[in-house]
Amino acid sequence: MQCQTVLPGTECTFWSKGGCVFEGNTCQNVIEMCEGCNHIVEGTIGPVCIKAPSPIKKWSAGLCNYATHRKVEVKIDEIKVNPLKASKRAGR
Ligand code: SF4
Repeated sequence: MQCQTVLPGTECTFWSKGGCVFEGNTCQNVIEMCEGCNHIVEGTIGPVCIKAPSPIKKWSAGLCNYATHRKVEVKIDEIKVNPLKASKRAGR
């Protein structure tokens, strides 16, 4: 159904006949870590996230998986090689 409060007219899975069913009955504002993300939109309560109603929860376990402005850096220090397969390959 469409939101009637924070983002009027926007389809939202948390809007029901009784209103917003998200905790606190509303979306929450974006947090400092969200700055620069393409998913920020202006709502009636200020800047909110179009992807997640609670940005602080999205960041509680580390990087928000929807963030467009930050990416996970994966460092591969050591590639693990199966010694059996390596010796077979070396024998060919
Ligand atoms: S997608 Fe993540 S980083 Fe972007 S605004 Fe929403 S909560 Fe913040």
